[in-house]
Formats: sequence, structure tokens, C-alpha cells
Amino acid sequence: MALYEYVCMNKKCKHRMEKIIFSEDEEKALRCEKCNAKKLKKIMSVCSPPDVRGLNAANGYTRTKE
Ligand SMILES: [Zn+2]
Repeated sequence: MALYEYVCMNKKCKHRMEKIIFSEDEEKALRCEKCNAKKLKKIMSVCSPPDVRGLNAANGYTRTKE
């Protein structure tokens, strides 16, 4: 499982999105959530770490209130 950032290759769209990929098949079936294009470019964002809160939310992690 890994968090990747993708950018849509559709010149009219260029939508950026972060996706948590669980399997290779899931990545192959990935489409732009805005224009539904299949051409997505994976971005290796080294200097910007993944959103930890978003990752935790996707894992069903909830912090109990005190
Ligand atoms: Zn798109």
C-alpha cells in the first residue's frame, strides 16, 4: 500500500489527485476522477510529504476525544 500523487494527462483537465494504491491492478484501473481519462502520470513528490490526516482517515483511523 502506498500513497501516490497523479496528474491527469488531458491538457484540458490537468487534474491533480492523491490516491492510495493497494494493488497493481488498482493502479492499472485508475482514472481521472474529474474527466475520467485513463492517462495519468505518477508524480514522485519527494519534497511534499503525503497528507497524514488524509491517510489516517482512509485507514479508518479516528482519534478518540478526551
Ligand atoms: Zn482529467
